[in-house]
Amino acid sequence: MIVAGNWKLNTTLIEGLNLASRIEDSISKLGPMEVRVIAAAPYTHLDRMVNSTDRIDVFAQDVSRHESGAFTGEVSAGMLKSIGVKGSIVGHSERRAYHGENDELIHEKIQMCLQHDLEVIYCCGEQLEDRKNGHTMKVIERQISKALSKLNVDQFDSLVIAYEPVWAIGTGETATPRQAQEVHEFIRNWLKQNKGEEVSEKTQILYGGSVKPGNADELFQKPDIDGGLIGGASLKAEDFIQIVRAAG
Ligand code: PEP
Repeated sequence: MIVAGNWKLNTTLIEGLNLASRIEDSISKLGPMEVRVIAAAPYTHLDRMVNSTDRIDVFAQDVSRHESGAFTGEVSAGMLKSIGVKGSIVGHSERRAYHGENDELIHEKIQMCLQHDLEVIYCCGEQLEDRKNGHTMKVIERQISKALSKLNVDQFDSLVIAYEPVWAIGTGETATPRQAQEVHEFIRNWLKQNKGEEVSEKTQILYGGSVKPGNADELFQKPDIDGGLIGGASLKAEDFIQIVRAAG
């Protein structure tokens, strides 16, 4: 199981380091657990977090599609790797909505991470309109085909998929465990058909969208839900730890 926090555009450096250290302390008290804990923090925090955390794997929230050059404001996969960051979120719906990211660009970013030995949490998910019109699976299939079809089987060792229905992100509205399981099963079957049984079994599929201490347990019990990508609730150490505990 994986529980990954996405801090988004929140916390100053000191606040972020304090949050990370409170999460670390609480994880140590939980004892041995089969849960991998990830924090995707702002770029400014990454170096210090890599050097001050032990039990948390530090990820970026985005990465450039470019290797280097005249791309003002961008941060490359090689730069992230050089400071010990483990991976990056790619294709988050907020990047798609506010920064015009499309499936092709997202595929390039995934490839760039994998070339630099960075892991990827790849996000997909439908809009409310898609769900209302009965197009959820069609949208998911389009997104994952464009992003993942060209990857070879071995590259899936470094890839985690997060199913995040856009209508559930930051809205307080969560997909029911049944709705989430349906899509996770669809994704797992797509992996089986396109990349084989082994990839479909080993690839972890996280659910994201208003996961909270009160609903994490039920979601994580579903057979194809391998953990969560947590936005709002990852900013409160107590809530985040309760979600980690639900995954353990
Ligand atoms: C997210 O940002 O990936 C997310 C799932 O946010 P929230 O938990 O706040 O819905």
